[in-house]
Amino acid sequence: MFKLLKKVLQVGEATSRYPWQPLELAPGFRGKPVYDFDRCIACGACATACPPNAITMDQNRERGVVTWKLDYGRCIFCGRCEEVCPAGAIRLSTDFELASLVREDLYCTADLGLMPCAACGRYFAPRRQVEYALTSLRQAGFADVDRWRRVLEVCPQCRRRERALAVPSPALGARKGKGGERA
Ligand code: SF4
Ligand code: SF4
Repeated sequence: MFKLLKKVLQVGEATSRYPWQPLELAPGFRGKPVYDFDRCIACGACATACPPNAITMDQNRERGVVTWKLDYGRCIFCGRCEEVCPAGAIRLSTDFELASLVREDLYCTADLGLMPCAACGRYFAPRRQVEYALTSLRQAGFADVDRWRRVLEVCPQCRRRERALAVPSPALGARKGKGGERA
């Protein structure tokens, strides 16, 4: 009996008084991911890296928005989103009290604008992503960033068409030479 009491006094209190007292968290504790709308460039890296698909991104080209959504009900707090985010827009916090009676409370959503193509006018890429690419080029010391702006503000289809039209076609020239030009 005395042996046991001695042991108990040596070990001290093994339980905590949570929830009446804040819980002491271990260093590097991974809690609720917190999203910073102002920093997000809608690149989609977090959605691609998220193992349980807790983060999704849906483009609505009619409305010209991409909807970023995080479902805390699916999140496994692995921290992959924080690792891959190039803009520091998502970070794991120490908040772990996420219980809710309402499913909607577990969603974090944001609408980010898409950019219309400078040639055809169709929405094609998140506006902030284009701006981020231009800023990165500027910071990397690329000269003539405005020329790159003209390239990046055109959708891939129009860019391909513009390039194809700019390349002289020897095949077309040969056909013309034989008098075989098509109507
Ligand atoms: S912490 Fe992991 S599971 Fe949760 S949103 Fe980020 S990548 Fe997905
Ligand atoms: S990786 Fe970062 S910047 Fe890209 S969509 Fe996710 S939160 Fe936004």
